[in-house]
Amino acid sequence: MKIETIAVHAGNHTDATSKAVVQPIIMATTFERDADGGFSSGYQYSRAANPNRDALEKVLAQLENGADAAAFSSGNAAGMSVFQSLTPGTHIIAPDDMYHGLRNQLKQLFAGILEFEFIDVNDDEILRAHIKPNTELLWIETPSNPLLKITDIKKAVAIAKEHHIKVVCDNTFATPVCQQPLLLGADLVMHSSTKYFGGHSDLMGGALITAEKDEWWEKIRNVQTMGGAVPSPMDCYYLVRSIKTLPYRVRGHVHNARLLAAFLESHPSVEEVMYPGLVSHPQSDIVKDQMLLPGAMMSFTLKGGEDEAKKVINALKIFTQATSLGGVESLIEHRASVEGPDTKTPFNLLRVSVGLEHIDDLIADLEQALS
Ligand SMILES: *Cc1c(COP(=O)(O)O)cnc(C)c1O
Repeated sequence: MKIETIAVHAGNHTDATSKAVVQPIIMATTFERDADGGFSSGYQYSRAANPNRDALEKVLAQLENGADAAAFSSGNAAGMSVFQSLTPGTHIIAPDDMYHGLRNQLKQLFAGILEFEFIDVNDDEILRAHIKPNTELLWIETPSNPLLKITDIKKAVAIAKEHHIKVVCDNTFATPVCQQPLLLGADLVMHSSTKYFGGHSDLMGGALITAEKDEWWEKIRNVQTMGGAVPSPMDCYYLVRSIKTLPYRVRGHVHNARLLAAFLESHPSVEEVMYPGLVSHPQSDIVKDQMLLPGAMMSFTLKGGEDEAKKVINALKIFTQATSLGGVESLIEHRASVEGPDTKTPFNLLRVSVGLEHIDDLIADLEQALS
């Protein structure tokens, strides 16, 4: 089935008693046992499994071409479950521009438990040089945040496989509509479903999708149910509902992003535009090879420096100054301020999550703010 059909139908089933075409929300935390003490419904207690979470996990697994999926209460909870599934002392290689929330999680919560190094994972020589006998995990995130750098997934997987290292790809920026890492050899895909999956800036969620239901996946499942960072039935319901329109929303976001990037690139006040869909992107050959669509996240730097960047943000009327991404509304932020004192992000950089407003209005707003 094609992705649009999967998004609409996967996981959903007509309710057996009411015949409602939309699966009802089952709020119950506990489920009745059979006369013999068994659980023929498959449900026992909602932290372990719930019908709405099952529906969500089914659609997530199919969207990413995985064998199974696990839903979490946030993207960070999903990432944390991967790290908690590893044996203490394991060495992890992660990108030097890893999403700052997960980078800080490793540094602050896993110091002394796991070993980790942040490097340029797209450079073969650097990557090979950092592999150690206890390296078991390579984390990649592509396109990266906020510089929209690309990691060649097939190349990273090939190097990792030589050393029996598992590869996890944070696919939040791309979504399965733009990129399908499991088909390129990754072992696990991670998502912050707070972003495009939710799509309306009104719910938090995270997900892991596995290529294989192996022993490692069992451990991750254990962390999910024992750790308990699971989404509520309500959150699962809303995510399943939002996912139905994911392919069309993402295509709308990409349509606007392509036009906005072209506008910004031709503007005299703009120094550089970082967007995977531009031919000027330094890795556009990898983009063509591994992405179905270039996504709708972009960053640009201003010739006028940090002061100019902040002036532009404050002059905008349609774009909202806020963190996060993937919602129907366009957001813009001064990323260096968000990331804090140890940021490597240029101070004249603005990051944009291109929304679904009409592109003419978005361009007109930026035009007036830049003048
Ligand atoms: C937002 C985000 C996360 C973390 O997800 P939360 O839902 O905020 O916990 C992880 N990775 C990327 C790329 C993100 O944008």
